[in-house]
Amino acid sequence: MPNLCFTGGTAILPDRTVDQAVVLCRDGKITYVGQSKSRIPKSAEIIDAKGGWISPGFVDIHVHGGGGSDFMDGSLEAVHQSCRTHAQHGTTTLFPTTTTGSPEQIKAMLDASKLAQQTWNSQNGAAIGGVHLYGPFFAKDKVGCHSESGRRSPTTKEYRTYFNSGIVKVATCAAELQGAAEFYRYARRKGCLVTCGHSNSSWSEMDAAFKNGIRHVDHFWCAMSTVPSIRKRLGVPMQGSMLEYVLSNPEMSTEVIADGMHLSPELLRFAWQLKTASRLCLVTDCNRALDMPPGKYRFGPQQNGSWFTSDGKVGWASKDSLASSVSGMAHMVRHMHHSTGIPLADVVRMASLTPAERVGMDAQIGSLKQGKQADILVLSPRLKVRSVFLKGSRFQISAHR
Ligand SMILES: [Zn+2]
Ligand SMILES: [Zn+2]
Repeated sequence: MPNLCFTGGTAILPDRTVDQAVVLCRDGKITYVGQSKSRIPKSAEIIDAKGGWISPGFVDIHVHGGGGSDFMDGSLEAVHQSCRTHAQHGTTTLFPTTTTGSPEQIKAMLDASKLAQQTWNSQNGAAIGGVHLYGPFFAKDKVGCHSESGRRSPTTKEYRTYFNSGIVKVATCAAELQGAAEFYRYARRKGCLVTCGHSNSSWSEMDAAFKNGIRHVDHFWCAMSTVPSIRKRLGVPMQGSMLEYVLSNPEMSTEVIADGMHLSPELLRFAWQLKTASRLCLVTDCNRALDMPPGKYRFGPQQNGSWFTSDGKVGWASKDSLASSVSGMAHMVRHMHHSTGIPLADVVRMASLTPAERVGMDAQIGSLKQGKQADILVLSPRLKVRSVFLKGSRFQISAHR
């Protein structure tokens, strides 16, 4: 593999940006990040950022599909199609995310993701960091756009087979479900980032869940409890909800869907202010309609997932309820930065290093740092994806981006 030298732009590091940067790579690894032109080897292939940005590749811990495919379709081709599509938008590592569905459908998705992970090459697009076991263990009143018939409470017999596949790295369960405590402890023992989502749990249920290992909550403000929803469920005195719990506990991280359709700029900024960039992830929560024409699609398995409509900007489950995003990570980064004024280093950290840290992969990926994988993007001054490098190999992207 040739030496690569990224130059002619500003490098984005987790805590600052570096003008006139030089980023060197060899054998798929980053070997130098700084400003010294004398370090550039004569043999290096020069990648000119042309006044744009040199960014770490994005890491997405919550993503359902893209390019017409959903990971829950359960085939190797569906996994490849989704990973190639997201690489076009700057994602270099992702965590295929299960929806509600039958145990057979979830097992097929885990198997296809594992096979894709083991046989990965750079033309397959984004690499698979692990699976996010998300559905089916949701609360009945917080299923959102997922098919309701595929929802249930956790049983050891069912989830043991999922965890034993070895590919589950993020694990979600609603805290108020019977069996949640055992699920959390099992997931923690397996080394997962343990998370609570699609839940109407109270402060005290969250506190118990924290003691059993949860450290993260899925898509903040979406399909989660609030003080009024807890009052409806448990009466007075009013009690804290997931929202207050996450904001008050500095160990807890969360994620936002920054597509401009789910949350307003003031909420995006508020989440960043209160949680800080080291505890807030950007996720796409993207469905199969990414890079597809507006129309009707299935959320989850092609075979029997619930229907939603994409208008090209977002998915709609019904006239007034959203069905996840149809945008890639570069869009989230642009919107987060341009609509809120949050510094770019923080925004990119939330799309790369923070998710990598939360899943325990920050020694390998997530920032431009000597020794890490050469997952590198060249972005235009307006943050459009110009080039994508996966472990030091160029991934062909289409010109219209
Ligand atoms: Zn969700
Ligand atoms: Zn989702």
